[in-house]
Amino acid sequence: MSLNLFSLEGKTALITGSSQGIGLALAQGMARAGAHVIINGRTKDKLFSILEEFERDGLSASSMCFDVTDSATARAAFDEYEADIGPIDIVVNNAGMQHRSPLEEFPDEAFEKLLQTNITSVFQISKIAAAHMIKRGKGKIINISSVNAALARQTIAPYTATKGAVSNLTKGMAADWAKYGLQCNAIAPGYFLTPLNKALSDDPDFSNWLTKRTPAGRWGNVDELAGACIFLAADASSFVNGHTLFVDGGLTVSV
Ligand code: NDP
Repeated sequence: MSLNLFSLEGKTALITGSSQGIGLALAQGMARAGAHVIINGRTKDKLFSILEEFERDGLSASSMCFDVTDSATARAAFDEYEADIGPIDIVVNNAGMQHRSPLEEFPDEAFEKLLQTNITSVFQISKIAAAHMIKRGKGKIINISSVNAALARQTIAPYTATKGAVSNLTKGMAADWAKYGLQCNAIAPGYFLTPLNKALSDDPDFSNWLTKRTPAGRWGNVDELAGACIFLAADASSFVNGHTLFVDGGLTVSV
């Protein structure tokens, strides 16, 4: 009975940016918990090979190829799925990017692209999803924030701004949409080994600093984010709303 609270049987989940890294691990975790998962990214070939992998593992998956910054295409894909196939019960806004540069030299175009990818898309895709979820009186939106919602770091000030905005937008989604039966929450990952932060994981000085700075004494493995996501996607979190769940080995609770 208590494990049923964490079951995603019969649910469909769209995970943006899920052809690698954290998004892929979240999709695999949710599929193992029983969900049909919709994999997303901008590269068709990557999506096809991930779908083959899911099929080999006996997991239920399909794909939607779109750029999260192109809201018209995202809306068309989302609305078509809802009309032709069925409800999308869970949306994980995971697609995100990084750009590193000293703030005084930070290119305006890179700042704009970070805003578009990391925060504007979360607003737009959530609005598209919420229109369907509100009609049904239920739905789950999970936004992938970062420890940088709480902590700044040299060379990534604009990224930090977008992730602070993701956590605050999540509170706003809860304030507006909880009354319709939606639960909107965020996950703030610490440092995980993915292509996004290869520059950091390849740097032994950074890795040594990080393992000393993190109470758990190591980098995170992407599979360790799946439990938090399943909790926030399942009935277990039916009264949890507007929360940012830090999964960071204790990084943000210690100096
Ligand atoms: P990766 O760069 O490893 O993967 C990003 C994924 O998103 C890829 O599948 C990529 O596929 C897709 N993607 C990128 N841009 C777009 C876009 N505009 N539209 C659709 N899909 C897109 O990133 P991570 O897995 O490391 O990060 C995922 C999320 O987690 C991000 O929001 C990041 O900020 C956050 N995060 C990561 C941390 C970490 O330690 N790695 C720590 C804290 C937060 P394709 O290029 O084919 O589109």
